[in-house]
Amino acid sequence: MERSLWKAIGYRGCTICHILDKDETDFMANLQLQTIKDQKVRQDVVSLNGYCNFHFHQMARLSSPMVNAILTKDLIDVEIKEIERGSFGPTLRIDCPVCKYVDEREGFYLKEFRALLSEKSFQKEYEATDGLCRIHLKGVLNLLQGGELHEFMLASHMMHLKLLRVELETFISKVRSTSRDFKEEKDSWLIAIEKMVGKRGLKK
Ligand SMILES: [Zn+2]
Ligand SMILES: [Zn+2]
Repeated sequence: MERSLWKAIGYRGCTICHILDKDETDFMANLQLQTIKDQKVRQDVVSLNGYCNFHFHQMARLSSPMVNAILTKDLIDVEIKEIERGSFGPTLRIDCPVCKYVDEREGFYLKEFRALLSEKSFQKEYEATDGLCRIHLKGVLNLLQGGELHEFMLASHMMHLKLLRVELETFISKVRSTSRDFKEEKDSWLIAIEKMVGKRGLKK
């Protein structure tokens, strides 16, 4: 299913991270189903040497113990054969298919964001979000290469940072005063971490 950034507006945190997370989860859910149903898909995953650390653990949580057992047994079979053949080298190479997919989607959304940015209605909607994380902001700035829209992105980034700083200050002072009356600032620290490094598992 093709998603659009319009669908991700209105959620907390980076719009691109939010939509990437949805795409990633759907892709993994589908892939774990296919690895048990379709031997060819499983062979492909094995030929890529499985998943990266982050996605293997994520996939394990989405999959049944049986799926995990079958896939890891296949990977072990390959490794035993490599050792027997004498082709087991010192370099560990994993071409994680989930990373590859997320990379492609990320490129797609950065371009979509850049295209939508020319629309005043999108600019308005974007201003009302928490803004992009630093990684995706830089990605968009790279596509813009200066100009009016670049200035717009910087000005809105500044506004988003200042708003988030107020939320963090509110959170800190409420915790200090042992108040339990949290509002939107409750998750401000999590939003701030995402602002700095992007969503969990983003490879940058
Ligand atoms: Zn992001
Ligand atoms: Zn990965």
